[in-house]
Amino acid sequence: MTGERVPRTTTWTTTPPARPPTIACPECNGLLTYEESYLGGTTSTEQWDRYRCPAHCGTFIHRHRTGRLRRLEGDETASGFDRRR
Ligand SMILES: [Zn+2]
Repeated sequence: MTGERVPRTTTWTTTPPARPPTIACPECNGLLTYEESYLGGTTSTEQWDRYRCPAHCGTFIHRHRTGRLRRLEGDETASGFDRRR
């Protein structure tokens, strides 16, 4: 650690380094619509893919490092992931 401040980089792209997988909605089992990906992180670049359910179940984030899918809650949409809606 050098003590240098690492700038918070936030990059949105529709052409991420890792191909966004096809994911079924955990709520209604329909196919989620891929919107775009978020590249960022503090120590290494991570990729999150943002999906929206066409049946209005909500917005979902797929984290590539863990392979987990979770739904964005209201307060998280204000913290960056969904601000470009
Ligand atoms: Zn759904």
